Amino acid sequence: MGLQFIIAEDAPEHNVSGSKRLSSAFGCPEEIWREYKDNLSFPLDIYSLASDLGLVVRYRPLDNEISGFLKQIDSRWTATINAIHSESRKRFTLAHELGHFLLHTKGQDDKEFKDTTFFRHEDNVGTINDYSREESEANHFAAKLLMPKEEFIEAANSLKSISAVANKFGVSPMAVRIRSQNIHK
Ligand SMILES: [Zn+2]
Repeated sequence: MGLQFIIAEDAPEHNVSGSKRLSSAFGCPEEIWREYKDNLSFPLDIYSLASDLGLVVRYRPLDNEISGFLKQIDSRWTATINAIHSESRKRFTLAHELGHFLLHTKGQDDKEFKDTTFFRHEDNVGTINDYSREESEANHFAAKLLMPKEEFIEAANSLKSISAVANKFGVSPMAVRIRSQNIHK
């Protein structure tokens, strides 16, 4: 059984909140894939990509409810990822922090992002709270970077299970389900 049933092929296109910020060099995952397309493959090597884009990445054991955080350390934006979490969760955390780094840090050197549960804010469309807006943007960024639209639809239509799609992209089954619901955003 494929995953066609969870993909709404005719859902309307609409803008992701915050797309007005997409003027910078890598303001959206599609630009990254275009730029790096000859060098990227699945599962995406998110560590190498983040490093290449100027983000310092380190892994440390943290409290279980903390996924990771992003702040300047020694004048460099540094993503600290909870080393005790699963590989797929660490990858999503890093992609999420990369989203914050590219979208939300300009001119804000004192800012700090501390991330706990990622999917909590996924449905907060319509809220005007800055915190939830940035969390939602970082989640969308991560999902689109790790699971680009075309490749995701192709994989969902050809692979046999959610877990097979999850394995292809190096994400959790939950991330696959959420991506399928948001594929046209
Ligand atoms: Zn965040």
